[in-house]
Formats: sequence, structure tokens, C-alpha cells
Amino acid sequence: MANVSEIFGCNVFNETVMQERLPKNTFKALKKTMAEGKELSRDIADVVAAAMKDWAVEKGATHYTHWFQPMTGITAEKHDAFISPSADGKVILEFSGKELIKGEPDASSFPSGGLRATFEARGYTTWDPTSYAFVKDDTLYIPTAFGSYGGEVLDKKTPLLRSMEALNKQAIRILNKFGKSVTRVTTTVGPEQEYFLVDKEMYAKRKDLILTGRTLFGAKPAKGQELEDHYFGNIRTRVSEYMKDLDNELWKLGILAKTKHNEVAPAQHELAPIFGTTNIATDHNQLTMEMMKKVAERHGLVCLLHEKPFAGVNGSGKHNNWSMSTSEGENLLEPGKSPKDNTQFLLFLAAVIKAVDEYADLLRVSVASAGNDHRLGANEAPPAIISMFLGDELTNILECIEKGEAASETARCFMETGVSALPRFVKDTTDRNRTSPFAFTGNKFEFRSLGSSVSISGPNIVLNTSVAEVLEEFADRLDAATDLEAEVMAIVKETMKDHKRVIFNGNNYSDEWVEEAERRGLLNLKTSVDAIPRFGMEKSIKLFEKHGIFTATEVKSRCEILLEGYAKTINIEALTMLDMAQKEILPAVLKYNKEVFETLKVKQELGLNVSVEKEVSYATKLSNLTESLMSKIEELDKVLLEAKNYEDALESAKYYREYVFEAMQTLRVVADELETMVASVAWPFPTYVDLLFYV
Ligand code: ADP
Ligand code: MG
Repeated sequence: MANVSEIFGCNVFNETVMQERLPKNTFKALKKTMAEGKELSRDIADVVAAAMKDWAVEKGATHYTHWFQPMTGITAEKHDAFISPSADGKVILEFSGKELIKGEPDASSFPSGGLRATFEARGYTTWDPTSYAFVKDDTLYIPTAFGSYGGEVLDKKTPLLRSMEALNKQAIRILNKFGKSVTRVTTTVGPEQEYFLVDKEMYAKRKDLILTGRTLFGAKPAKGQELEDHYFGNIRTRVSEYMKDLDNELWKLGILAKTKHNEVAPAQHELAPIFGTTNIATDHNQLTMEMMKKVAERHGLVCLLHEKPFAGVNGSGKHNNWSMSTSEGENLLEPGKSPKDNTQFLLFLAAVIKAVDEYADLLRVSVASAGNDHRLGANEAPPAIISMFLGDELTNILECIEKGEAASETARCFMETGVSALPRFVKDTTDRNRTSPFAFTGNKFEFRSLGSSVSISGPNIVLNTSVAEVLEEFADRLDAATDLEAEVMAIVKETMKDHKRVIFNGNNYSDEWVEEAERRGLLNLKTSVDAIPRFGMEKSIKLFEKHGIFTATEVKSRCEILLEGYAKTINIEALTMLDMAQKEILPAVLKYNKEVFETLKVKQELGLNVSVEKEVSYATKLSNLTESLMSKIEELDKVLLEAKNYEDALESAKYYREYVFEAMQTLRVVADELETMVASVAWPFPTYVDLLFYV
């Protein structure tokens, strides 16, 4: 077994390594940059680069890469060797401050949503000193931001860092009002990551999994998740070996992988890290997803991060646990022993309530993807309606403030088990709610609508920026007020009056809630195509421009990228379906038809006194379904051809959603029914039972 404290962070150029290897002044300057976002000078960068290179080379590195997060939602890297020719025909290993600070990958082949023409290729990556460099695969990885020659942002990290900055600025203003001098407020995130594991050999036989990450066909297995025996169930040996290996790899990279367990669906699992600064948590989540896939290969497994790999059982999400914390370590969403008297807490809480209500549409957009459309509102994940759960205690306090009444203290109760041998402990003051998209869980909010494959930067950009916007408004009011306490209470009261519609503590999966939400005027943006255009609206552009997160052009280009991404995803899925249906399912089904009809013919020809009634009806059903399969293939082919007529990104995405996606669904229904009729040996690829129950 690995010695955790020895291996933890051993491949990371972290503070301990920096302190050991950098001159005192350089270390101090770098730390200041990391803690306060101060700019770093070139000579300091030279010193840091040299130390980083020496350290990396000792770890076996031969190359370095600027590691960045383009709009693909995954990470990108281009490796350069440290080598430089020397006079004697040999090489020396070099790495300068300039190379550390700036890289120049060709930007033309990354999504830019019309921001850049192919001939305008220049792009820059810029070192992000607030996230540690690390060694992986004999390469030194340097986290960087990515932008174009003209200054447009082409990545997910830059706006995330900007949104953290915006929130920092406004939160500090508020804290100053409360007489606190803090140097920095950062947002913190702990993303819980769900995933599936399937056998590599089975996976290799399914084109849909290979090309789209999800099964496009597959009849329901006899057993799904109805026995509720997989959730927190004991972990099978092969999976356990995988999880141990994964933990080790993540620990080496300084990722605080903490919790692992089986999830609701068969073959589904979860990993949760200990939370950290949003920027680093985002980098770490990207690395976690990458390592989940890499480590799986070593175990003859494939890790599926798609939001809905299998129909009929739960898909995978990612819970974004979020809070704000000061440089002094104070969690701004910690209610303390007496939340009703904690005005500072109530003010920050009010800010989140108002932000979530006013920018619910943007939160919805931030989790929109073709994959996540399968989950939201499907009674396995929160609905597409954004609302928040506060629990009884806080709701009661806020309602009392709204009515101008005194809130009473919630009594702390002991957990009574009725067994004297079991230790007693104080119960939480409120139960949990697993169905809410945005739930207060004690000292943080848990945004639960994220799909498993999404980069967490998007949702956090929206959260940080919208909360910063409200905090700014509150801070302006406090600036003008004479009585701080009274003004805070007035703000909380108004917030409740105007925004309590977003608070819902009941069952978010119920049909009644959908109706109730409509009465309350909450948005129900059911699909990505309904949601994405909200991002490009006036109000959204105003918000992002005001806080310096995106320009109007950048917002519009990101809208395009999202819509195009949607259409492209459905297009690939439809093409894959056609390919599988025409080249695998139909030939297998036709062959099976032949067997059935030949059997029937033989029986009839023998002229024996036996009934062939059942054979006839079976053969007829099979034949009808086969015919139906062929016509559904034709239909999908036809609507797919027509998709080419739509040039506008929104029109195209709408068409894919309304016609192509629907045609895919009907084709699947027929194919899945055929799967239940055709002999197992004749079916062309592994079934749900093979995929879900054999790991
Ligand atoms: P659960 O009971 O839902 O598993 P946990 O307390 O274990 O809740 O936390 C789930 C995730 O929330 C973990 O990743 C944890 O590190 C993270 N978390 C806890 N506190 C905070 C915080 N203040 N800010 C952000 N994330 C947090
Ligand atoms: Mg959770």
C-alpha cells in the first residue's frame, strides 16, 4: 500500500518545493502573486523557470507544455522539449522565463464561434501562477490562460479568474463595512464527480460508445437499479483496484481525492475531492476526468463520463459545492451557532438568493449540453427549473425578517436511536433535499444541475459574476447608509419580498412543482436549445461586460459555440445510429428473419399434422418490425439530409432537436424491440446486461 503522505503532491511544483528551491525574494514575490493576484516581473519568472525545469528534469521530464482549457470543454497541450543545441554538437536543457510566461499555439483550429478566421492563427497562452505546475507523463505541465492575438478570450480559465476577481472586489467592500480587513475573498469549490466503468472489450464492440460516449441502442435489461442495491454497495474487487490506483495517481498530482463509492445505477461510481479555490478545483477536476479515463485503460476498463451512457438507469452528474472564503479562513456562508443574529451571513445569503433568482437562466445555460438534456427533469436529476433549497431553519428566519417578526432559535436536538450503546450526537437543524438544483447544505451551496462531463468553469463563472453583481448593489447601499444593521435587515427583507419565489424546499421531481413554478413565474428551459439563447440576451451581456468577464462579441461567439456544439453532437449521434442500424442491426435481423422463415417453411413442407400458428405470428411480428426498422432508417436518413439546409446556428440546433433527435428516438424504439426478439447469439453487439453487470 502506498504511503499517502509521501506520495501526496510528489509531482507538483507546490509551495514546499518552491520554498526549497527558490531564493527567498523570488519565493516571496511568487507567493504574493498567488495570494493576491499581483503581477510577476520577468526576472523573477526567469528564476522560477530555471528552478521548475531543474525540478521537472529530476522527475524525469524531457518536455514542457502550456496546458490550457479551450472552448472544447477539455484541456489542450502541445509539448516542447527542453533541449537547446550547444556548440559541441550536443544539447543542453533550457527553459526561460519567457517560455514559462508565454506560449504561442496556433489558435485557428480551436472553437472561436466566428471570432477568428482560419488565416488569423495567432494565439497566446499565458502562465497562471495561481495554479501549480506539475509533472505528468515525463512532461512539465504549466497551467495557462488562452487568448487570441486581438485580445479575445478563447478559453474557460480567463473568464473564471476574472469572475473570481469581480467577486473578490465586491465581497471585500462588504466585509470592510463589517469592520473586517481581509486581503482577499476567494470562491471555493468541491466538485463531486460521477462516472461509469465498462469492460474495455465490450466497449470496443460498440461504435456508439466509441464515437458518442453513450449507447444509442439497447433494450432494458431484466434488472436495472430498482433493487437500490448498488448505491453505497460494497465495491467489487476490480473496481476497488481501479479506485485505489486512481486515488494514487490523483494524490501524486496534489489532488485531494477523498470519498469514493458506488452510485445508484449499476456500474456507476463517484469520486469527491476536498474542496479548494475555484480555479485550482477546476484544473483538478479536468485532471481527475483525464486520469479516470487513463487509469481505466490499465485495468481493462473504460470510464464513461457522458451524462447519459444508458437509457433506463440514472445518468451521471457533477455536484458543484460552492462557497466564499476570506484569506483569514472565514467561510462567508457559515451560519454559526445563531444564524438569525449573524447579519453578515444573512447578507451574503441574501446576495446568493437574489443572484440565483435574477440569473437563473444563465445558471441553466451554464449546464446546457446535448448530454445533460437527457437528465434534467427526468426524475434522476433536478429539473430544468432553477430553484433553491434553504431548509426549514433558514427559511423560517428569513420569513420572520420579511414579516418583521422575531425569529426564534431552532432548538438543537440529539439524535435518538433508542439504543443506549450508540453514541449520541446533535442532529443537523434541517434535513437534506436531494431533488433541489441549488441546495444549501450547512455552510455551502450545492449546485446540482451540472452534467458529469462539463467543465465546472462555466457554472462558476455565472455564479461568481451574478453574486458579485448583487454584492456590488448591496455594498453601494451600505455605503450610503448610516445604520449598518438596519440597512442589512432592510436589504434582507426586500430580497425575501422580491425573490422568495426561487426558494422551494419540497420535492423538485414532482409534477406539482412544475405547475407551481410556472405560477411563480420561474423559467422552465427544458432543453439546451431553449436555454442557450438566453446567454446572448441584453441583460446577460450587460452583466458580463460590467464586470469585465466577457465582451458582447465574446458572449455572442460563446452562444454560437454552444449551439454549434449541440447540433454537431446530435449529428454525430444520428450518423452513428444510421451506421449501426444499417451495417450491424439490419443485417443481423435479416439473417435471423431467414432462420425463422426457413423453420416455418420446413414445418409447412413436411405436411405433418402440427400447428404452425405460433410460428406464423412470430414470423409476422418479426417481419413487421424489420420493415419498420427499415422505414425508420430511411426517415432518419431523410431528416438528417435536410439538416444541411440550416445555416443559422440557432435554427440548425432547433432543427436537430425537433426533427433529428425525434427520428433517432423512434428508430431506437424499434431496434430495441427487435433486440428482445432476436436470439442473443445473433445480436451484433454487447447488450445492456453485458455492459452493466460484468465488470
Ligand atoms: P456530502 O454530504 O454531500 O457528501 P460533504 O460535506 O462531504 O457533503 O461535501 C461534499 C463536497 O463539498 C466535498 O467535495 C467537500 O469538500 C465540499 N465542500 C465542503 N465545504 C465546502 C466549502 N466551504 N466550499 C466548497 N466546497 C465545500
Ligand atoms: Mg452531493
